[in-house]
Amino acid sequence: MKKRLPAFIISAALAFSAVSCGKSDSKDSENTIKIAYLPITHSLAVLEEAEELEKESGLKVELVKYGSWAELLDALNSNRVDGASVLIELAMKSKEEGIGVKAVALGHRDGNVIVVSNDIDSAADLKGKTFAIPHRQSSHNILLNDALATAGLNIGDVNVTELAPTEMPSALASGQIDGYCVAEPFGAMGVNLGVGKVLFSSEELWEESLCCGLVLTDKFIDERYDDAKSFVESYKSAGNALDKEKAKEVAKKYLNQTDDVLDTSLQWISYNDLDITEEAYNELADKVKEYGLSDNPPAYADFVKNDF
Ligand code: ZN
Repeated sequence: MKKRLPAFIISAALAFSAVSCGKSDSKDSENTIKIAYLPITHSLAVLEEAEELEKESGLKVELVKYGSWAELLDALNSNRVDGASVLIELAMKSKEEGIGVKAVALGHRDGNVIVVSNDIDSAADLKGKTFAIPHRQSSHNILLNDALATAGLNIGDVNVTELAPTEMPSALASGQIDGYCVAEPFGAMGVNLGVGKVLFSSEELWEESLCCGLVLTDKFIDERYDDAKSFVESYKSAGNALDKEKAKEVAKKYLNQTDDVLDTSLQWISYNDLDITEEAYNELADKVKEYGLSDNPPAYADFVKNDF
């Protein structure tokens, strides 16, 4: 078993990083909607929708795969894509900086875990330890803060490091970090490899947590309102239809992960009822301020569009 770990981790990492990095061969078309995504379980609703939408409405979703949030965000912020499934805090930051984007739905519900090394048994044990998150602007950072708060600790009590999702299971295995929280299935990968365990699931720390959002550019909404409306309606239907079995089917097609990792990871997530409610958004905005991600997150009315 020990000998197999590095090869497994390396192959999984390669699967994640060997992507087209935003390149696409298909030509722009009036009926095409370009949507950016990362190959994670958190984006399965948009991957599922891409197949359904063309059958239903003739609109074609061109999925553009990226290898990192930074690259994806750059494409979204510069209108090289019409929308993205993206960490909602990153999109909030873009909006705060004057970029024309709107969050039109959640990417998923729940679906995050705090993974720690096997010698850590409580949040209090995290004091003085090194913990990895993918980006400061993420619900993973918020969940870390929430976890620490359960033991009366705060972010100053741990060493926080930003790592690429694919690096986290191997970093935990090597002892470089003591825990991590990141988009799935990389938490499940660490658990299935036996290098860590779940200390908290997201719903234990933050009920109705927000994480990824489906975000569209104002340019796309303004110039192609009817297409945007069809797209969002179809996306929410796709989410409602995405049960565990269907989610696994889509994940196997796009994510290049093992059945075992997907079975573990998909237990933690759901895709139904993807509306962003004002109550849930305001709770997120409060946490963003409380934990220092931003002093001035966008107001619900300015950033969330629920009225297609
Ligand atoms: Zn997410």
